[in-house]
Amino acid sequence: MIQGYEAGLLMKVIIFLGPPGVGKGTQCSLLSTRLGVKHISTGAIIRQEIASESALGLRVKSIVEAGHLVDDKSIFECLESALSSMNFQNNDLILLDGIPRNLSQAKEFEVLIGKFSSKVDLVISLSADLNKLLERFERRWTCSACGKIESIAPHTDMSHYACRSCEKTGTMFRRKDDEPETVKRRFAVYQQETLPLVSYYADKNNLSIIDGLRQPEIVYAEIVSILLRK
Ligand SMILES: [Zn+2]
Repeated sequence: MIQGYEAGLLMKVIIFLGPPGVGKGTQCSLLSTRLGVKHISTGAIIRQEIASESALGLRVKSIVEAGHLVDDKSIFECLESALSSMNFQNNDLILLDGIPRNLSQAKEFEVLIGKFSSKVDLVISLSADLNKLLERFERRWTCSACGKIESIAPHTDMSHYACRSCEKTGTMFRRKDDEPETVKRRFAVYQQETLPLVSYYADKNNLSIIDGLRQPEIVYAEIVSILLRK
């Protein structure tokens, strides 16, 4: 697969777009585990920078601890720091999930990876219909005892339900992020801010759109077939 890519670039960048909960992180983890490609998520690079205790890390830590959203400038500094610390071979694949999330970030990102003699090679948009996404979240429960997330049929009596992982009863709860109102709000933000990127990348001819709400293994197989065609 990797040999098939255009030679001479330091790394090949693949951006994942899609509303919260569509499975971007799941797919990136599968690709990273099975194919050994590098995966960069916004959350991970911020945690990594904080852990390094650099001047940037300390600044970001104070933003996070104050409960504020990390600003674009700091996120990009963390991203540049993360990319600088990675050892790239020619044509290494990098998966990005969570960045860019709007048009100005997309343009800034192109400038940043230009510094690494790279460009956006492929954009995979995992699409999802809001109602189907809500159905998926309706099934999602988290165990307060062991943290395991399960998909459980609607109308199940949760007070007597035993966690399949730790077997404790009545421990499953709905996380705030999984509540319908939160899902709807985040979906609206995605549509307004991030969805314009789909046409932005379509115009650049490096976009593939995939139905993201099928079984993860089916979505995975389709992503791999797209990578093989590249
Ligand atoms: Zn449990």
